[in-house]
Amino acid sequence: MRQSNFFMPTLKETPADAVAKSHQIMLRGGYIRQVTAGVYAYLPLAYRVLRKTEKVIEEEMAAINVPEMQMPHMLPATLWEESGRLEKYGAEMFRLKDRHGRETLLGPTHEETFTEIIAKNLKSYKQMPLQLYQIQTKFRDENRPRFGLLRGREFVMLDGYSFAASREQLDKQFDDEKSAYEKIFKRVGVEVRPVIADSGTMGGKNSTEFQAPAAVGEDTIATNETGTYAANLEMAVSVDTFKQEPEALKDMEKVATPGCESIDQLADFLKVPATRIVKSILYIADEQTKVLVLVRGDKEINEVKLTHLLDCDSLRTAEAGELEKITGSGKGGVGPVKADYADKIVADETVKGLYNVVVGAGETDYQFVNANLDRDFKVDEFADLRVANEGEPDPVDHLPLKFTTSIEVGHIFKLGTYYTEHMNAKFLDQNGKAQPVIMGSYGIGVTRLLSAIVEQHATENGVAWPKEVAPFGIHIIQMKMKDEIQSKIAADLEEKYAKYDVLYDDRNERAGVKFNDADLVGAPVRITVGRDAADGFVEVKRPTDEKAVKIALTDLDDFIE
Ligand code: ATP
Ligand code: MG
Ligand code: MG
Ligand code: MG
Repeated sequence: MRQSNFFMPTLKETPADAVAKSHQIMLRGGYIRQVTAGVYAYLPLAYRVLRKTEKVIEEEMAAINVPEMQMPHMLPATLWEESGRLEKYGAEMFRLKDRHGRETLLGPTHEETFTEIIAKNLKSYKQMPLQLYQIQTKFRDENRPRFGLLRGREFVMLDGYSFAASREQLDKQFDDEKSAYEKIFKRVGVEVRPVIADSGTMGGKNSTEFQAPAAVGEDTIATNETGTYAANLEMAVSVDTFKQEPEALKDMEKVATPGCESIDQLADFLKVPATRIVKSILYIADEQTKVLVLVRGDKEINEVKLTHLLDCDSLRTAEAGELEKITGSGKGGVGPVKADYADKIVADETVKGLYNVVVGAGETDYQFVNANLDRDFKVDEFADLRVANEGEPDPVDHLPLKFTTSIEVGHIFKLGTYYTEHMNAKFLDQNGKAQPVIMGSYGIGVTRLLSAIVEQHATENGVAWPKEVAPFGIHIIQMKMKDEIQSKIAADLEEKYAKYDVLYDDRNERAGVKFNDADLVGAPVRITVGRDAADGFVEVKRPTDEKAVKIALTDLDDFIE
């Protein structure tokens, strides 16, 4: 590809509204442009990375014999009525009506669509185990689309679904997908941690997230020192644990609520019974320690009524009855709280990240509480949460926990029979008895993954793309376009290394401009054809090298490998 024909509208200045490193680099490098909030055009550079990432996915799915297919984006609401998720999914779903007034939606995920096809087309145990996947654009009307491709309202997802006749089949499918996912992340150069996770609106149990540690990550993972325990923060500590082991958590509790020596004191400040405090999270913003407290509502058992940021001063001085003011309580208080919280994180450079977590005591009848601030609290999910961690190690055994911000790049679930029972997807077993198909679902945020790669591989002025997904494998830069010897050598190299995907900078630009752009393209190898070319020498540089080195043309093959 000749750069004079290429399209990468670079920017000199970092756009002020881009906070995440990856967002900045992708804008500056002309990888993406926003079309509307959370909706992006993938310009040629990003599209090349996207296609290469998809190719890696396709190869790894083929390696575990999972066929690729494609579902429609536009779906009838009736499908979601059957599964019971139409209401539950809430405002995140893009809904529209067709000209006949039929409720239609843009798919945010495809459990229902796949289950429906299976319900109609799979009849016998002989057709299983079966796995299918697609790579497809998804639509979610996120409350706060942000950080470029990290949280879009339209984004590309790999979503896969498995269908089994027995628990054993499901377990094997899950393990196969899990190891395929690990290979995918490795090949695209993203460091991930598989962690215990909650099952969101999927209504399943047994879920694992793949979390990529990064400063900008919206999730927090808790790991123990030996690395044998890793969980999404929302799953890391159980309310019951506190009841059983108050001593073990005493110190943590102090750290998390300075000024409040115990949950009882905290409850006192809040003027609520201690049994209603579900969880408090400490973080630092504006150089101040702040605590977020989740308090269980008083009427319905699962209603999380008060959630709000409280700084410790207000906490300490709160008078009886003032609580409402500080917390902005009330039904559905989660929305505004999330926005407040997010504003702080995004707008405030002094935020040091999430620091600690402490559980509240409580005679609650659920064990785990979803404290992911970017997810709605869904009433009927608690039933699932209660069993979600069954059999997992008790967090208390793993203290002290370490917390790391991270990006959820993938998520796999053992769904069981939730969808197949709701949507009547049954098969005849060996005895001729009708049974619900046992499902799993598996997803990777493909466009989010692009951002995660950049977050983990950013350089001072650009990015060092991992080989498999680099938009170009080799970037040839010709210093002087009028120099015929340089032109000849550059063109020869372009042809010789074509299989690596070469970008050849043949523009009449100053060296500074070319090198700046090259940092943003981030090809694993840069070859500069300049003055010494006539003597058989070029300069080579990898994005992470400090300086370019002079090398004989005859040694180039070895350098490139
Ligand atoms: P999050 O907690 O970040 O909102 P999720 O748990 O809602 O993600 P899943 O339903 O598990 O997402 O979807 C599978 C994958 O799709 C996620 O692991 C993530 O990588 C990706 N994904 C989800 N929402 C978005 C989004 N708004 N933009 C980009 N990728 C996304
Ligand atoms: Mg989500
Ligand atoms: Mg999530
Ligand atoms: Mg998820």
